[in-house]
Amino acid sequence: MNQPTHDRNDDLFAHAREVIPGGVNSPVRAYGSVGGAPRFLASATGPYVTDAAGTSYVDLVASWGPALLGHAHPEVVAAVQDAASRGLSFGAPTEAEVDLATVISERVVAPGEGAEVRRPVERVRLVSTGTEATMTAIRLARGYTGRDLLVKFAGHYHGHSDGLLAAAGSGVATLALPGSAGVPAPIAAQTLVLPYNDLDAVREVFAVHGDKIAGVIVEAAAANMGVVAPDAGYNAALADITHEHGALLILDEVLTGFRVHPAGYWGLQQEAGEIYTPDIFAFGKVVGGGMPLAALGGRADVMDSLAPLGPVYQAGTLSGNPLSVAAGLATLRLATPEVYARVDAAASAVSTALSGALAMEGIAHAVPRAGSLFGVVFADEAPRRYAEALEQESWRYPAFFHAMLDSGVSLPPSVFEAWFLTAAHDDDALARVLAALPRAARAAAEA
Ligand code: PMP
Repeated sequence: MNQPTHDRNDDLFAHAREVIPGGVNSPVRAYGSVGGAPRFLASATGPYVTDAAGTSYVDLVASWGPALLGHAHPEVVAAVQDAASRGLSFGAPTEAEVDLATVISERVVAPGEGAEVRRPVERVRLVSTGTEATMTAIRLARGYTGRDLLVKFAGHYHGHSDGLLAAAGSGVATLALPGSAGVPAPIAAQTLVLPYNDLDAVREVFAVHGDKIAGVIVEAAAANMGVVAPDAGYNAALADITHEHGALLILDEVLTGFRVHPAGYWGLQQEAGEIYTPDIFAFGKVVGGGMPLAALGGRADVMDSLAPLGPVYQAGTLSGNPLSVAAGLATLRLATPEVYARVDAAASAVSTALSGALAMEGIAHAVPRAGSLFGVVFADEAPRRYAEALEQESWRYPAFFHAMLDSGVSLPPSVFEAWFLTAAHDDDALARVLAALPRAARAAAEA
């Protein structure tokens, strides 16, 4: 299961652990649940990454989402280089950040009644990480409503701010943590955690605490406890319930936004006829094209509660920094409908082959999808909520993961993470993935 031979990755990991906690700067990178030394990456291009030992892999991590176009797209790199030549950071407004806010606002649109167009992102504030975007969104919901309580769903991950780590997905799920040490109990008590895809639970909590709830935060489609799409009508019902009680709906599109559709998962749902309007959106990952950039956006009267206009404070020395804005603008301009069609086709090819390979070995499995996002679940049925996601035969994943890695395919090192395809996954890259699957399925069967 672990790496058969000792190489430069092992040496770097040993050294890294002496100077960096756990040897990594973000927990899931540590291969904690799959074992072995993480691959220290030296370079990446298109659908491939190359590690410090010089081994290349077809990459299905895509920097955990941002690399929609593939790694180091020449036009994105050129845009960043061009921006860099004009200065790295000004701490002042720039023309390009106005352009990016406009592009975001103009992309997140859907048809309304007759000729009307719904454009729920009237204002955009740029920040540097998804964590900041959601943290600011909940502060804004609290400041705007004058209420303290927040509703989140078990298994949903919204970054690592204090109030959002309760029953969180992603690394918190991978490491099987209930939450995080260091979060004061009175802060944790402001977050009410409900089971996902259970509208009765939402109605009940609003019946009891409705006048104290500032907002509900939900991943547009859950993808940090494995991929768990919302039931049909679920997100729209959340909007109805929150609005009936004067609370706000915060749609976390950090992972899904601009990845599954030009207008995010919300856009996909609008197209499918599930009509609803969140008050605040959080974006990240693709919106920064691989550079540190994220955003929150929404209704003008809500967003204008932010300083300097309103009383809700938020700031950032590097917010909207020119390199990140250049990468985000170039990426969104290149992210045409054809790009999404390519990513969808690649996701279909891999998810179908994955299911076929596991079926050949008689392994109980599901390959749930939410747009082009998908993942593997070692259980007969795709889970609808966190408790079900935890019940699968996740012990099969390390053998599966390492067999793929040995065949030159880099998967997310946790069964709770989505697989990310890009528009750069061409026939050659996809053929390598498909060829690796049968052996990995066998390894999972024998685990
Ligand atoms: N929300 C969601 C849905 C995410 O998937 C993530 C990160 N994976 C975040 C928020 C936090 O983003 P960041 O890691 O940029 O802080």
